Amino acid sequence: MSKKPKREIPILGSPIIETHCHLDHLQENDPLTTLKEAFNVGIEKVVTIATNPDNLDVVLDLANQDKNLFCTQGIHPHNAKDCTVDTILKIDNQLKESKVVAVGEIGLDYYYNKTPREKQIDVFKEHLELAIKHELPVVIHSRDAEDDTIEILNQYAPRMKKKGVIHSFTSELRLAECAISHGFYLGYNGIITFKNAQNVRDALAITPLNRILTETDSPYLTPIPYRGKENAPKYLPFILEKIAEIKNVSVDEALKVTYQNAHDLFFRLTN
Ligand SMILES: [Zn+2]
Repeated sequence: MSKKPKREIPILGSPIIETHCHLDHLQENDPLTTLKEAFNVGIEKVVTIATNPDNLDVVLDLANQDKNLFCTQGIHPHNAKDCTVDTILKIDNQLKESKVVAVGEIGLDYYYNKTPREKQIDVFKEHLELAIKHELPVVIHSRDAEDDTIEILNQYAPRMKKKGVIHSFTSELRLAECAISHGFYLGYNGIITFKNAQNVRDALAITPLNRILTETDSPYLTPIPYRGKENAPKYLPFILEKIAEIKNVSVDEALKVTYQNAHDLFFRLTN
C-alpha cells in the first residue's frame, strides 16, 4: 500500500531569494546539488549562514563556488562560548570579502542556554560593533530572550547604517514591533505551515509585507507537505504561498515585495 504522492513543488511566477539556510549542515545531499535543485524551481540567490568558528571558512569557500550563492560570517549564541578574540579578528577580516553579505547568525538563545547568558550578550554586542564598522546588516537569532534583545536593539540600531533581520521569528509581538520600528525585517520559514504555530502566524499577520524575508533555515524546519524529509531551499515556494495566504495578497504580490526586501537588505551593492 503506497501513500498518496505529495504535491510537487510549484513553480511560481517570479524569482525568490533564500535568505537563510545552512548548506554545510545538510546530511542527505551535497550543497552544490541542493543549490542546483533550488535554482531549477525559481530560487535566484541563496545565503548560507555561518554559525561557529569552524564553519566561517567553510561557508565562504562554498559561496565562492557559485555566483548566486552568498554567505555570512558570525557566531551563533549556542556557540558563543567558543568565540575568542581571534575569532572576532578573523570575522573582522573576512567581512571584507565580496561574497559576505551580513554579520550572523548572532543573538541570544535563553531556551537552550548552551552558552551562559552574559557571554551570549558580550559576543552579540561584539558582532554588532563589527556590523557598524563594516556597514553590513545583521542576521539575528532570538529565542525566549525578548527583554534583552529589545534592550540591545534599542541601544545599537540607531548607530547601524544597515539594519538586519530577526530570522525564524517566533518571539512575542512586542519584539516584532520593536524590530520593525527600528527598520528591521522579520524572517519566516516552514514553521508558518505547522499546525501548532498559530503564534507565529499571528506575528506574520501583523508584520507588514515590506518587512518580511523568506527563508527555509534548511536543513531544519521542513515545511508541510514535506515534513520528515530533510529541508532544502527548493521548498521555499510552499512558504511563499503560505505568506500570501496569511497576508491575504496574491502570490505574485508576495513574491515581488519579499524579493525586493531581500534585495534591499543584502544585495543592493553586490550586483
Ligand atoms: Zn539558522
